[in-house]
Amino acid sequence: MDWSSLTCSAIVLIILFLPFGASDDRLVPGKPLTPGTTIVSDGGDFALGLFSSGSMQSNLYLGIWYNGIPELTMVWVANRETPVTNSTSSAPTLSLTSTSNLVLSDGDGSRVVWTTDVASSSSSSPEAVLLNTGNLVIQSPNGSRVWQSFDHPTDTFLPGMKMRIRYRTRAGERLVSWKEAGDPSPGSFSYGCDPATSIQMFLWDGSRPVYRSTPWTGFQVKSEGEHLITNTSAIVISLAFVNTDEESYTMFSVSEGAWHTRFVLTYSGKLQFQSWNSSSSTWVVFGQWPRHKCNHYGYCGLNGYCDETVSPIPTCKCLDGFKPTSTEEWDNNKFWKGCQRREALQCGDGFVPLSGMKPPDKFVLVGNTSLKECAAACSRNCSCMAYAYANLSSSIASGDMTRCLVWVGELVDIGRLGSSTASDTLYLRLAGLGAASGKRTRSNAVKVVLPVLGSIVLILVCISIAWLKFEGKDNQEKHKKLPSDGSSGLEFPFVRFEEIALATHEFSETCMIGRGGFGKVYKGTLGGQEVAIKRLSMDSQQGVNEFKNEVILISKLQHKNLVRLLGCCDKGDEKLLIYEYLPNKSLDATLFDDSRKHLLDWGTRLTIIKGVAKGLLYLHEDSRLTIIHRDLKAGNVLLDAEMKPKIADFGMARIFGDNQENANTQRVVGTFSGYMAPEYAMQGIISTKSDIYSFGVLLLEIVTGMKRSSTSPPRGFPSLIIYSWNMWKDGKAEELADSSIIDTCLLDEVLLCIHVALLCVQENPKDRPHMSSVVFTLENGSTTLPIPSRPAYFLGQSTELEQLRNNIQNSVNTLTLTGIEGR
Ligand code: ATP
Repeated sequence: MDWSSLTCSAIVLIILFLPFGASDDRLVPGKPLTPGTTIVSDGGDFALGLFSSGSMQSNLYLGIWYNGIPELTMVWVANRETPVTNSTSSAPTLSLTSTSNLVLSDGDGSRVVWTTDVASSSSSSPEAVLLNTGNLVIQSPNGSRVWQSFDHPTDTFLPGMKMRIRYRTRAGERLVSWKEAGDPSPGSFSYGCDPATSIQMFLWDGSRPVYRSTPWTGFQVKSEGEHLITNTSAIVISLAFVNTDEESYTMFSVSEGAWHTRFVLTYSGKLQFQSWNSSSSTWVVFGQWPRHKCNHYGYCGLNGYCDETVSPIPTCKCLDGFKPTSTEEWDNNKFWKGCQRREALQCGDGFVPLSGMKPPDKFVLVGNTSLKECAAACSRNCSCMAYAYANLSSSIASGDMTRCLVWVGELVDIGRLGSSTASDTLYLRLAGLGAASGKRTRSNAVKVVLPVLGSIVLILVCISIAWLKFEGKDNQEKHKKLPSDGSSGLEFPFVRFEEIALATHEFSETCMIGRGGFGKVYKGTLGGQEVAIKRLSMDSQQGVNEFKNEVILISKLQHKNLVRLLGCCDKGDEKLLIYEYLPNKSLDATLFDDSRKHLLDWGTRLTIIKGVAKGLLYLHEDSRLTIIHRDLKAGNVLLDAEMKPKIADFGMARIFGDNQENANTQRVVGTFSGYMAPEYAMQGIISTKSDIYSFGVLLLEIVTGMKRSSTSPPRGFPSLIIYSWNMWKDGKAEELADSSIIDTCLLDEVLLCIHVALLCVQENPKDRPHMSSVVFTLENGSTTLPIPSRPAYFLGQSTELEQLRNNIQNSVNTLTLTGIEGR
């Protein structure tokens, strides 16, 4: 493809360029560059000067281009957004100041349009040199560099440039496309290192991923020689990934004597690898990403992959053990719904190796492991769906040379690359595979017996439930359609009101075990089983909506860390929910009670933390729907007889659509007491990340045994989060551990939990981890975790925030009268 026709056809040189001075490759103070003059690198490959582009001929940009090729091809532009205007009376200038700064100003020098803005340096005679790599550097006479254009890329990646990601800030260089042909101002496409993992590259359109590279597998050497038609030697491209303590970066180099070669991000959103062909005087495109529709990010949906080995047109397929979620749509080439498992997984299921794959996105990176340990880490965790492993010892990585990736939850953006050097072996957990052998283990006998057993169990369960709720009553009354949101058409077992009244001794005070925003909670026995019965208070119109919500939601969910709804009753004004009874009540009743908190030793607390995390993961990622709880707190974590946790109170939960990342609600519901994420409290924005914030607060409470906003603030700090953040920052995190667990806790585990908690309460929701990473980290111990940034509700904001909360609370109280959405 002729790249020039894509981007540079509209670049018009209005001025005949003259060399700045005899063989000048540098700029010095007092000798500015003006339109029509250039500086040319020593070696002659690149030139720097002012050029005009597109239809606005009077607009000038400072840029670097390939020297000596007929097609003017820019590799760098300084003032992309602020062109200088050219007029014969006052020409713009580029000058180097004695403080080592390049300054581009309008003709009369009154308006600075662009500057390198380096902190003032004491160098007496700085110079700006255009190197033969295309890098413009400002240096002092002893050669030390104070600034270089390679650190500020535009749309072109040249040999020797680095595309970095700095671990501390998660910031790095990105290529940003031109807006359109002839318009160097920044377009919507960008390309750079993935800030979340740092080992893969992304092409974005705005913030939406368009294409993702394979995660780094090691040092790559790729010979393209046989394809290149150049009059010089064959080109060998080496792509390297370098990993230091502070940053990681990719760079590439070409063989000695090779012609101009570059990666460019075109204005139409394609990353192209091009080389100049001097015989045909054109740019030849040797590679382009995304290559086709199929390898656009997530094109084949969850658990689907793009098979790039199929020619001529790659196509979507389902992973082994999966089938299209909608066969009809799949057959019509609509793949976004992806694939679903043919057979449900069991914890002991093993892994099938799929070679030649581009592994999915959204992995958790585990450092310092062997393949065996990587496999074991994934097998141990029943939520782990797949893993992949690479030894990077042939890369220029320093320190840890291993790369273990694990996936918890659904798999997205997968590819099959065949024998490409960038491909990986993906070990996928598959139903019916033996853990050790990876071979199918379920015999035919099992295949026959299991369904039969399953049916028997199912029938027994149905009989018990029927007995529990409908004993001896008219069939018509036994199964009613619940008033639902209209979408479910849900059949749900009802219990007669009289049965419940009998079980609770006519709702006597002695049977009452608690009271919440919904109404009173009673303990009773139905069908020989202890149950907790929530009775919606009659005057609580708002609760009707929560009641419906809770029944619709919970009846669809089943997880060992979610409280089980056993039945309900809807008779006139009486609305009741029947749950399994959890004898150890809610977590707050024990955690914050000095006479009981000793019951929660460290082992128990860790089990509670992990259980809540898994329950939340199920809500967010593993159930068929994405569910935001919206009111996660210690009072909504119930403990069973063994102190194992179950998340309760789904009255305020929200179901999200498949492609919905977050939503804005006019109704802020939940607990205004420090569990609520700031973006939710202030702007009503809910997402899974608002739940993760609440989880972080809960985690801090469990570790410290302190309430998030206590009447006696910890050591004078206004809240537990601020206190914890300060202790962590000062290296005193271990002092946060509750005194009653000191004897039973493992310091590493406590510190890990505090680290995870601080990641969860970060101000920016995007910085907070997903629940899958949290679960994996808690299950597998320390992985390479990012450093938490400042948490929300930082010092100095608390009074203001309190005020804001009160305002919101008032508006909520007013709103509840309209009963739009719960409490
Ligand atoms: P709010 O509704 O304001 O969030 P809450 O969550 O404490 O408060 P409820 O869910 O109505 O309100 O519960 C009130 C109390 O009843 C709980 O604190 C707990 O002690 C008890 N309780 C609720 N469900 C059960 C259950 N399934 N088993 C045992 N006790 C329960």
